Amino acid sequence: MSESVVGTKQAKETENAEKYGMAVSKSASKKVKQIQFADEMQEFSKFPTKSGRRSLSRSISQSSTDSYSSAASYTDSSDDEQSPRQKQQVNSRGGSDFCVKNIQQAEFGRREIEIAEQDMTALVSLRKRAQGEKPLAGAKIAGCTHITAQIGVLIETLCALGAQCRWCACNIYSTQNGVAAALAEAGIAVFSWKGETEEDFWWCIDSCVSAEGWQPNMILDDGGDLTHWIYKKYPEIFKKMKGIVEESVTGVHRLYQLSKAGKLCVPAMNVNDSVTKQKFDNLYCCRESILDGLKRTTDVMFGGKQVVVCGYGEVGKGCCAALKALGAVVYITEIDPICALQACMDGFRVIKLNEVIRQVDIAVTCTGNKNVITRDHLDRMKNGCIVCNMGHSNTEIDVTSLRTADLTWERVRNQVDHIIWPDGKRILLLAEGRLLNLSCSTVPTFVLSITATTQALALIELYNAPEGRYSRDVYLLPKKMDEYVASLHLPSFDAHLTELTDDQAKYLGISKTGPFKPNYYR
Ligand code: NAD
Repeated sequence: MSESVVGTKQAKETENAEKYGMAVSKSASKKVKQIQFADEMQEFSKFPTKSGRRSLSRSISQSSTDSYSSAASYTDSSDDEQSPRQKQQVNSRGGSDFCVKNIQQAEFGRREIEIAEQDMTALVSLRKRAQGEKPLAGAKIAGCTHITAQIGVLIETLCALGAQCRWCACNIYSTQNGVAAALAEAGIAVFSWKGETEEDFWWCIDSCVSAEGWQPNMILDDGGDLTHWIYKKYPEIFKKMKGIVEESVTGVHRLYQLSKAGKLCVPAMNVNDSVTKQKFDNLYCCRESILDGLKRTTDVMFGGKQVVVCGYGEVGKGCCAALKALGAVVYITEIDPICALQACMDGFRVIKLNEVIRQVDIAVTCTGNKNVITRDHLDRMKNGCIVCNMGHSNTEIDVTSLRTADLTWERVRNQVDHIIWPDGKRILLLAEGRLLNLSCSTVPTFVLSITATTQALALIELYNAPEGRYSRDVYLLPKKMDEYVASLHLPSFDAHLTELTDDQAKYLGISKTGPFKPNYYR
């Protein structure tokens, strides 16, 4: 079970689906209006902060000086402490409409993007199929996502399809500096580097939006910060906006909140709840990257370790599967009885955090919620406990509560802080409570290709939709497009789909060409 969904509509099947090789069935065009859980939504205005106050200066200097533990920062120049905002940089074409750590890293970043392309064949094939037509010609996309090699492939695909893009990061730690430099070298206005301060973070978002003579008409957001910034600072931009594509659980919650309050000014596409995003990125990406993030930062051995995972949604399921496979003893906390039951059926003990907090070696949050691990929990953890977060924002662990005079912070490695209690007890806090895998390791390319292809199709769909197809509401991508994204990725496995016979199709009451499942199927 995933988040509660307010007012979600399945987008209609469209000619865009047909254009890129998808047959269209009328049955899928029915809108799905799902159950409303009105009081569960976060308020859009209550934004989690990107980091605790005291951490900022330390996090910048540390992340730029000691970065070996993260592949995302192999390209960091270890002796370069100057803020990118103070540098005058130009790319080889003389362009300076960007702000990255070091434009000299462009060649290295280009190799990273090329390597990512190898495992993103579906997205690259979409690029090849559609670039003649330029379905995004005239689109001006402001993007706020993690800036990794895989997202580099997505941005360049959007450009190849005709879009003009300006980009910034949705997380202060997850930018691959070389990739940002390669994009800037290719002429894309990118404002992002690994180890931004909170102030840098908003400056980068602002620089992405407030260009002279350029106004975005599409948003690709991951977490809702860019959308929030435009709402707050430049609401007039929404007058010409075609739509918002939002990728994360957190950002989607915010969109529903806006929609509920009648404040959503443009149509929005909820990519997170596309099957090809939620059931792949959230699940498999986390299954394959949580151990990597933990190993690179702590060298921990998992066999026999007691781990509590808060939240048994898609991300939690992925994390638990990986931890269990290496012999960890895994406990789950859940608020939703269905997810709790799933955890039980998968062989995990479901407990309250208080019941195990004193004994666990590792605590992981993946709820999309806030204050799941509080100071009280942290006080009761045992010496050496590792604490980390796999959710989008850094509010899941109450890191701010650790910034008190009685506790000492010691940065022992890049992204690893020891928090020391007066009696000498230490806990290991990773990435200052930001999402572990994207801050401390790399993530698997193939699964991001699936998400990126879904995002690209959502942008194409919203941008090309005729007047009236979408109103000011939150929509799901048409099921047909979800299936199309999946089918594009099957050749990588040499997977051969079985075709329905006419008789079977009639029996099931579906078209031979799909969609093969109802919109509500998860
Ligand atoms: P989800 O909604 O499927 O799962 C979250 C689960 O947490 C739900 O089952 C919910 O009942 C439970 N929960 C909420 N509050 C809780 C609490 N106080 N205690 C215990 N359980 C609680 O969402 P998801 O797809 O698993 O995503 C979770 C978070 O991870 C989101 O913030 C999302 O943006 C982020 N995410 C991270 C990555 C990554 O690579 N690290 C990838 C995808 C999504």
